[in-house]
Amino acid sequence: MQTTQTYANVIVDISLEKLDKTFQYLVPQGLIGKVAVGTQVDVPFGKRTLTGYVVELTDEPEIEPERIKPIAKLTEGSVPIESQLIALAAWMKKNYGSTMNQALKTVIPVHRTARQALKKTIALAVSEEKAREKLALFESKHYTAKARIMLALIESGEIDHGVATRELGMTAAALRKMEQDGLISIAARQDYRNPAQHLARGGPLKKLNENQQRIVDEVAADWDAGRRGTYLLHGVTGSGKTEVYMELIARVIESGRQAIVLIPEIALTYQTVARFYNRFGERVSIMNSRLSAGERYDQFLRAKSGDIDIMIGPRSALFTPFDRLGLIVVDEEHETSYKSGQAPRYHAREVAIERARMCGASVVLGSATPSVDSYYQARLGNYKLLELSERVENRPMPECEVVDMRRELREGNRSILSTRLQELIDERLARGEQAMLFLNRRGIAGFVSCRSCGYVIKCPHCDVSMGQHGGGRMICHYCGYEERQPRVCPKCGSKYLGGFNAGTQKVEQIVQERFPNAHTMRMDADTTRAKSSYENILQAFSNHEADILIGTQMIVKGHDFPNVTLVGVLAADMSLHVGDFHAAERTFQLLTQATGRAGRGESPGQAVIQTYSPDHFAVLAAKAQDYGAFYEREIAYRKLMSYPPVFHMLVVHCMGKSQDSVREASRYVANWLKKKISESAARVMLIGPADASIARVNDVHRRLVYMKAADYGTLVWLKDGLERDRRENNRFLNVMIQFDFNPASGF
Ligand code: ADP
Ligand code: ZN
Ligand code: ZN
Repeated sequence: MQTTQTYANVIVDISLEKLDKTFQYLVPQGLIGKVAVGTQVDVPFGKRTLTGYVVELTDEPEIEPERIKPIAKLTEGSVPIESQLIALAAWMKKNYGSTMNQALKTVIPVHRTARQALKKTIALAVSEEKAREKLALFESKHYTAKARIMLALIESGEIDHGVATRELGMTAAALRKMEQDGLISIAARQDYRNPAQHLARGGPLKKLNENQQRIVDEVAADWDAGRRGTYLLHGVTGSGKTEVYMELIARVIESGRQAIVLIPEIALTYQTVARFYNRFGERVSIMNSRLSAGERYDQFLRAKSGDIDIMIGPRSALFTPFDRLGLIVVDEEHETSYKSGQAPRYHAREVAIERARMCGASVVLGSATPSVDSYYQARLGNYKLLELSERVENRPMPECEVVDMRRELREGNRSILSTRLQELIDERLARGEQAMLFLNRRGIAGFVSCRSCGYVIKCPHCDVSMGQHGGGRMICHYCGYEERQPRVCPKCGSKYLGGFNAGTQKVEQIVQERFPNAHTMRMDADTTRAKSSYENILQAFSNHEADILIGTQMIVKGHDFPNVTLVGVLAADMSLHVGDFHAAERTFQLLTQATGRAGRGESPGQAVIQTYSPDHFAVLAAKAQDYGAFYEREIAYRKLMSYPPVFHMLVVHCMGKSQDSVREASRYVANWLKKKISESAARVMLIGPADASIARVNDVHRRLVYMKAADYGTLVWLKDGLERDRRENNRFLNVMIQFDFNPASGF
């Protein structure tokens, strides 16, 4: 398979618009072996010599070989950070399947030539004393947004106009009014803004407890001895993981290196970021989807120029151009949002580990419910396992009860709230404490189940739940099998058969009827559509503007509510019945994270899990807060079924407007792969072609072929072969082929 890679594709301008444009050069004899992807080279360009980056090495000339000019020489001087990022892009292209251009666009910050926007800032126009008076006034009148602005100004002197409108919930008009009233002044000037700048600083540092300290010492000892690696920090909810991250970051920074902290976008709240800002001040910046492309680019420039040492953000923050990177933290490492949905379909955890390897950094993965993938790696000894098994300050883990909803029905309670949960809510209301009700709606709702015995109607061919559709029909999303919905339960004959379709709105209504004196608040996709409302709802609930917060999985993470002492999980089963081999894992994670929200303050917490499957191991393990028990059962199942992480999986998606072409292409792909596998005697299982679970989206038809193999490299080799065959033979040009290694969800 050794090829002589004689030609180098070079980009001479690294701004985004030009990434597509590569020029081909010959690698001269003397440079063979010295030129790699990412290497900076000087090349002849017309009459000039330009500096560029090698993005691809190939043995396929794009024009007549005689006309291809040689690379002049390697560029002298230090290796720029772009070289490393381009090499990382090449690794991603290889390991996940995409074009080099797609990979480069993922790792190289978007450059925008548009002029810099003016930065508008707000400052107090009155004395602090006066401001505090106003703050008290606004609070008493429940002008919550105005109060937030005053508080932020008192604490930090100056805040960003954009932050005030986007995150603190003020409109520009209302701010102008405050300016007219002489309370604030608004000024405009031009610079690279730091989105974290408005956050308050101060407050004492927390002294780590013994367990936290032991972990910091262990990692620090490795660091000092020059050992780099990947750590998995398994710490129960509320065990103080964030404090551990911050202490490790502080040490890495003291030694002159930089750090990246990945956090799922949804957990990237004011509260979390403020903790980092409180500790590291101006050296921190954040990246999130609310920043404009220009603002994001500014953050990258600041990182490159050494203005900051710490970048906090979702998946994309991984590509911050730090050239002295020492540590990458991946918080909530089990989150599926770390997997990209577009080519290259990379997993941020894996790319973090590769980037760290390239530059001699360490990686800390943290979670209360580690992914089965990571825990498996830890068991194999590839990651070092660190454990925090107790909450800080001896706070107890929440006491957790499972309520069997089938039994509720038998006892005559047809409400969505069990008797026990109602009782406990009454108790909280009487004590002035808060409760959260979590409606598990992950995955496809609308399967058909029996509320009397818990039976779920499944496809006779595929063993996945049938989906409920209009006109009393049920359809299997794997094979298309269709059936009329029966009138009574096929198992027990009960008439309580139906789709579980209650949304958060319905739940809120039921709660209000049952607890007329309680204030409720709702958080779901509807109430958080506006960019700032997510943060506003959390903030309001944290100020005790409501007693009960009702929401979807959004409420599960990212915020500490010390006054919440009860968490109720409604319909825990929902996610057990999605047709995906991760179903039990996702359910266990959601339940553990949800119940873990209770009792994070001084008062102990309680949790109630309502379910129709009280005996399912994921439910039982979540109740017992026993990760080990869950893992043992789950890994046995993965082994038995040859699923990841024990085996690797590669899904080949074929997509196109023409159903016939997609069918034909998927058949061709499957046959090509079969032939390749049998010729090479590679140990690969091949399944398909079959329709994707959602076989048609916006008139694009989707079919897939998937493979399982013990060796990842074999799958990469098959992917490469398929790509080459397609390139050389120009097959099925109206069908798009995409690769997904170890998919994070159903397909
Ligand atoms: P996790 O990320 O593991 O859920 P956090 O780091 O958010 O836990 O810590 C939970 C709470 O405990 C936070 O309010 C945090 O400020 C507090 N905390 C963490 N470590 C300590 C400590 N050593 N002493 C006192 N409080 C702590
Ligand atoms: Zn039944
Ligand atoms: Zn089926």
